[in-house]
Amino acid sequence: MDKSSDQLREVHVPHHLAGVFSSHFGANQNVRIFRAPGRVNIIGEHTDYNDGFVLPAAIDLYTWAAIAPRSDRLLSIFSENFGESAEIDLDERFPKSRDHWTDYVRGVAIMLQKAGVPLPGASLAIYSSVPLGSGLSSSAALEVSVASALLAVSGHTLPLPEVARICQRAENEFVGARVGIMDQIASCVGASDKAILLDCRSLNYELLPMPAGVTMVICNTMVKHEHSGGEYNDRRAQCEEGVCNLKKYYPQIRALRDVTLAQLEAHRTDLPELIYRRCHHVVSENERVLQTVVAWHKGDWAQIGKLMAESHVSLKRDYEVSSRELDLLVEAAAGRSGLIGARMTGGGFGGCTINLVNNASVAGFTDAVREAYKNALGIDAEIYVTTAGAGVSEVHGNA
Ligand code: ADP
Ligand code: MG
Repeated sequence: MDKSSDQLREVHVPHHLAGVFSSHFGANQNVRIFRAPGRVNIIGEHTDYNDGFVLPAAIDLYTWAAIAPRSDRLLSIFSENFGESAEIDLDERFPKSRDHWTDYVRGVAIMLQKAGVPLPGASLAIYSSVPLGSGLSSSAALEVSVASALLAVSGHTLPLPEVARICQRAENEFVGARVGIMDQIASCVGASDKAILLDCRSLNYELLPMPAGVTMVICNTMVKHEHSGGEYNDRRAQCEEGVCNLKKYYPQIRALRDVTLAQLEAHRTDLPELIYRRCHHVVSENERVLQTVVAWHKGDWAQIGKLMAESHVSLKRDYEVSSRELDLLVEAAAGRSGLIGARMTGGGFGGCTINLVNNASVAGFTDAVREAYKNALGIDAEIYVTTAGAGVSEVHGNA
């Protein structure tokens, strides 16, 4: 069973969530509901925090946040996914992260207040159809839906790139994950049937139409390795070390985005071997994003498939963020009828692969990949047959 039938039922979520809200916080309140999508990255992995280019799309899996104001100074929250309630005191003087899901909500509230948005107390009910912790950015979907809901009850509006920055700050500075800006921007500005070419330095972006004949099939390894957070922060530090070294020869560079492959090769032996390989992934991946966009405009899907394959190999060999499970899912996809391209997506060490597949072949493709993965590892992969979804918006109770 793939997940597309579950996705159809998503139209009922706002109504369901309004009911959950009433049973937790009482009926007859002025409840508003906000919905923000998860995202899948088509290409451009680990380039966002190097000021580079990425090509994600928002997906039609979402987090919903139902909200109504309160007269006290609490954020009272219920997460349907965890079946758990929690309270946050908006006036707490020295809030600390607790390694708990509420950190994301508290972090967003803190960063909104730091940005000059005065928040009233509020009750919030949250539900997500984005799988949690699978590399499809349930964290950004949670942050962006909650930020939009809190802005609404405070009567403020902010431009979407600013909302994305505030959410990123919440995750960087409060939760403690040094994520780049891609996830939050995709959740804010995604559009139906569009991929997003984002320049992570300027935050300028361009929406590229997804071709009608191509489906994004996301395969979940169902595995997340424990050390992924630490490894992610290590990769960031290694990129910074690379910039620091290369600055001796190219003082104008500010990030790996500013380095060309020729410049990197010219100083290959001046860098520690590990740092060279990390830089090689980022510099070549950034180039691959730009090449993908050229191919996209030409409709050259064979070239896009080739670039996705190269991206996976680079992430595996040079950046060392793949895993046996991710490699198996990519191998299980290779050569299948209808496949355009396959690679790991997201930070790595488990999570998901993205597969671009011709529409007519999707059913056969998902069956074959699921079976191959089950035979290899005995694990049932979840498969999400997605389209590019809309960015954050308010939805209505009976939508
Ligand atoms: P990803 O963003 O790839 O899904 P992360 O580890 O970055 O993985 O974020 C997942 C975490 O975000 C969850 O473990 C939980 O703490 C929080 N989270 C996401 N969605 C929800 C939700 N609906 N309710 C409560 N917490 C959530
Ligand atoms: Mg995340």
